[in-house]
Amino acid sequence: EVDWFSLASILFLLMFAPLIVYYFIMSCDQYQCSLINPLIDLLTGKKHLSDIWDKTPALTYRAAGIYTLWVAFQVFLYVFIPDFCHKFLPGYIGGVQEGAVTPAGVVNKYQINGLQAWIITHVLWFANVYYFHFFSPTIIFDNWIPLLWCANILGYAVSTFAMIKGYFFPTDAKDCKFTGNFFYDYMMGIEFNPRIGKWFDFKLFFNGRPGIVAWTLINLSYAAKQQELYGQVTDSMILVNVLQGIYVLDFFWNETWYLKTIDICHDHFGWYLGWGDCVWLPYLYTLQGLYLVYHPVQLGTANTIGILMLGFIGYYIFRTTNHQKDLFRRTNGNCKIWGKKPEYIECSYMSVDGTKHYSKLLTSGFWGWARHFNYTGDLMGSLAYCLACGFEHFLPYFYIIFMTILLTHRCIRDEHRCFSKYGKDWKRYTAAVPYRLVPGIF
Ligand code: NDP
Repeated sequence: EVDWFSLASILFLLMFAPLIVYYFIMSCDQYQCSLINPLIDLLTGKKHLSDIWDKTPALTYRAAGIYTLWVAFQVFLYVFIPDFCHKFLPGYIGGVQEGAVTPAGVVNKYQINGLQAWIITHVLWFANVYYFHFFSPTIIFDNWIPLLWCANILGYAVSTFAMIKGYFFPTDAKDCKFTGNFFYDYMMGIEFNPRIGKWFDFKLFFNGRPGIVAWTLINLSYAAKQQELYGQVTDSMILVNVLQGIYVLDFFWNETWYLKTIDICHDHFGWYLGWGDCVWLPYLYTLQGLYLVYHPVQLGTANTIGILMLGFIGYYIFRTTNHQKDLFRRTNGNCKIWGKKPEYIECSYMSVDGTKHYSKLLTSGFWGWARHFNYTGDLMGSLAYCLACGFEHFLPYFYIIFMTILLTHRCIRDEHRCFSKYGKDWKRYTAAVPYRLVPGIF
């Protein structure tokens, strides 16, 4: 059942999320990243909506060509080049891997080759920059708004296709979820794991590529633009490239672990993931780099080191917390967390077919500090990206605000699900670990 609050939120997002993305990107293009000046111009009548719209670059054949090539290349890397990185990179888990059991009891196989796709794409990018010179490294920045229209077309097309597919030819009919509410189903998805053929998995492809592979290239393009405009790349731009680069590489290095996260394990594939991965992620997660093209902030050594430390500590917490849970679950508790045997709460749940299953909730390590300390680490890292942009404008800080809302909402959504799953065992767990994100506060 869809309650009125969920429905109102969904309608709000469907109507306004594309406008929010447009507003941010347009503000940089026309107002030097000021979010308030477009409003002042409109409210004082100095400009009309049509003036802003007329100045907005339109969709071009060039952008359509670049985008089509980009997505086609990522599809090619995903579907046709099986992973070879796991054969020579010690500690890296890639190749064919199994996902979690779906509610209908299906275990999907995935071709984990994201790290390889990322490496090949970046090697080609640098080969072009330093050797071939087929295109300018500023190509992404130079076509940023025309590319926005392409990303929207793909985002809407894939979400609409996923909905039609869910009704008429689902990959696994037993794993479909119909609420009967059109908007909810469109937004949150019907099919759990839509696929084309054996290997093209919509969730894995759209979550990771083309958006996350592009993330680091987008930042590199911003750095190249700074170089072109000012003859140098600022320390803040390098910092944003490095910190976000670590986050992206971490994502691909741990792509197999990612199969067990909420996105893949619990979310269905609809507009939220389809459009979000095509548009929201590449456009709003890269706002810091875009901002720094218009405002080339020089932080100085002390600030750079301070922000770098915050980013590293955040990353350390994020990765270690995720690793602790992964290790604990993989070994069924037969491991050491911070040098000791882990403590945990035994819990049980019933699957749809009435079978009783057993599970464990870790209460050692960072999981004893708070129930989602991995999110806390993520938020510290996100804050570091924003701080790299100084305090002159609000725009780069949108990211930390958005991430705080996203992860808090995710935390509550997840806990609601866990409570439905584990019942009184979950209550015992929340009594043992009373805080969600920050010990003693929330
Ligand atoms: P988690 O990795 O925290 O997974 C939550 C699940 O883990 C729960 O549903 C439950 O599943 C299980 N669980 C909860 N508590 C425990 C415990 N104490 N011991 C063992 N298992 C437990 O959440 P996500 O998948 O959301 O996040 C993964 C990472 O991805 C996070 O670090 C997050 O910050 C990051 N992320 C980043 C985003 C971005 O846009 N940058 C977006 C989303 C996530 P079960 O049913 O198996 O018990």
